[in-house]
Amino acid sequence: MIIGSGCAGNTAAIYAARANLKPLVVIGHEPGGQLSITSLVENFPGFPKGIDGPELVENMKTQAEAFGAEYVYGSVEEADLSKRPFRLNIDGVWHETRTLIIASGASARWLGLPNEQKLIGHGVSSCATCDGAFYKNQKVMVVGGGDSAMEEAIFLTRFASQVTLVHRREHFRASKIMLDRARHNPKIRFLNNTVVEDVFDVASKCVKSVRLKNVETGQTWDEDVDGFFVAIGHIPNTKPFKGQIDLDQEGYIVSHGGARTNIPGVFHAGDVQDRTYRQAITAAGAGCMAAIEAERLLESEGH
Ligand code: NAP
Repeated sequence: MIIGSGCAGNTAAIYAARANLKPLVVIGHEPGGQLSITSLVENFPGFPKGIDGPELVENMKTQAEAFGAEYVYGSVEEADLSKRPFRLNIDGVWHETRTLIIASGASARWLGLPNEQKLIGHGVSSCATCDGAFYKNQKVMVVGGGDSAMEEAIFLTRFASQVTLVHRREHFRASKIMLDRARHNPKIRFLNNTVVEDVFDVASKCVKSVRLKNVETGQTWDEDVDGFFVAIGHIPNTKPFKGQIDLDQEGYIVSHGGARTNIPGVFHAGDVQDRTYRQAITAAGAGCMAAIEAERLLESEGH
């Protein structure tokens, strides 16, 4: 079984299916993973003109299915990895598997503002590709200082009249190329050393304004915005495996070399373990590694 249908899970499925291992891929609450909510991918080798993220990941799924991989929708509610076959409860139904590849990725991190969750889907979003088109000629705000924030801000300039990028520090984590692109875009306005204190207006069920604070001066003020995009990183999806798989302090799987976890027969692939590279191509490579390790283990057991 392979948990996750992003770049890592799909690549693992291609390799596992081609090796006749009959993989069952579990598609969770974010089908296709991060690629499915991104725009043009310019750095995946083999596509000199770039390829849309959703198309790339869908192609991988089609490729895996062509070799016999099966897909099922559901969430892992519980896992028993104490003995083999491992047991996984997917939406109330227990499944058994001799090897498991965890490629469940990482989900969007939220700021934790008092009104943030109440306004998700009503102007608060973590996905510009999904929701950007709603903000034609309107004012939007993006929070974050990494590549995701730059990408979201640049994408939103296709629709919005103005994009304000709010970052809590002076310096950016984003790569130089992405930062330069954002800086050269006349529609993007930078607000550094600034944090968001809250987003309004819950009573009208839409975003109307935000309260900002300059962390250097302590000054607070309100600004009108129509859309509020949070792009501050991700949290690994490892909850059902807590207490069984070795996880680090932030919940990422700790690798025991190659694609191995602390449990023989359970492998990791992609962002669920990788806090350093987190690219489509590295996730795909990790999926390949996990499938090869699963295949070799099963072979050594006479499968
Ligand atoms: P990231 O690099 O971890 O950046 C997260 C940003 O959010 C940081 O600037 C961080 O601020 C800020 N942040 C975190 N928690 C915050 C909070 N509570 N309040 C305010 N700000 C907060 O995450 P990412 O941008 O999602 O990128 C993840 C990985 O994907 C990276 O390796 C990136 O290169 C890759 N990526 C690549 C592309 C591309 O090449 N096209 C596009 C998207 C993502 P601090 O800097 O102060 O910590």
